[in-house]
Amino acid sequence: MITFYPGPSKIYPQVAGYLQDAFNEGILSQNHRSTAFMGLLQESIELLKQKLNIPAHYHVYFTSSATECWEIVAQSFTSKGSYHLYNGAFGQKWFEYAQKIAGGNVAGQKFDAEETIPVITEAAGEFDVFCITQNETSNATQVDVSKIPSLNALVAFDVTSSMGGVALDWLKGDIWLASVQKCLGLPAGLGLMVCSPKAIQQAEMIGERQHYNSFLFIHENFEKYQTHYTPNVLGIYLLNRVMRQVENIELVSKKTVARARDFYEFIEKQTALELLIKNTRVRSDTVIAIEGSSAAIRLLKDKANTAGITLGNGYGAWKETTFRIANFPAIEDWEIDQLKQVLIDF
Ligand SMILES: *Cc1c(COP(=O)(O)O)cnc(C)c1O
Repeated sequence: MITFYPGPSKIYPQVAGYLQDAFNEGILSQNHRSTAFMGLLQESIELLKQKLNIPAHYHVYFTSSATECWEIVAQSFTSKGSYHLYNGAFGQKWFEYAQKIAGGNVAGQKFDAEETIPVITEAAGEFDVFCITQNETSNATQVDVSKIPSLNALVAFDVTSSMGGVALDWLKGDIWLASVQKCLGLPAGLGLMVCSPKAIQQAEMIGERQHYNSFLFIHENFEKYQTHYTPNVLGIYLLNRVMRQVENIELVSKKTVARARDFYEFIEKQTALELLIKNTRVRSDTVIAIEGSSAAIRLLKDKANTAGITLGNGYGAWKETTFRIANFPAIEDWEIDQLKQVLIDF
């Protein structure tokens, strides 16, 4: 079965061998305070920084999911309040969790999926963090990070479905959160957080230490290449191996963007289908949403299934009338070609 589901998504086939290696190497039975584990953690962070071109002065942390990172932002980086700009389901969920956790001054602005993100104006000292879903997996839109002005507050980007797929301008953000089961082609269960020195300073100023996953505990442990709880050692090991295997993000990004452009053009030529997002400036490079009548979508999903292809369901309000295609690096060109053939025959 070929899967285009945008998370959990296709895992690199090499992972089968890496799983066996992990077992054979005995790392899975090692204590997480052991030098073997600390070495693995340090090396994995270095590989990730190297392959994704993360600036040397930024810090990388592992958590259990992107969702956990939303909570960490609300708990540990927010004292006055957070401001959320969102246009879809993931951004909205982040906003809602922040309201529950940080309470107080948590505000948001919903913008239309067809529009570019509104210009951020910062009222003096009202918010500590601006929260932006850089790639909105639910409706296949992306935010151009270069359009976000420098702010006094922190800028936090959810890049769960773009990190590892496209190059990111890390200096434009202070907190970048993601998980491994999308563009990184790995099994779910490991979250990633990348923080700027400014973010760390702010967490130190706030001094929040009430939770097992308070950022300062995470940070202090990671400074020693240790973790704040028994970590997902297997997940870290697999990430390490996949990071060795993949090309530098500049190359990966070029391929992702070119393949997205090609696929968008292809869909525009199909008469029974349309792209959900009409504005080319906000279309995602890593997740593509395609629209049709509910009858057409149902029939197409059946045909794809028969051809051994799983399409991603539409999300929320678009469940019946769209499907989504992950354009993640683990998906190979021949798989896209097979999908195109099914769409042409349809
Ligand atoms: C998948 C996804 C999440 C949730 O990731 P988990 O690892 O399940 O917590 C959050 N944000 C976006 C944009 C996503 O695509």
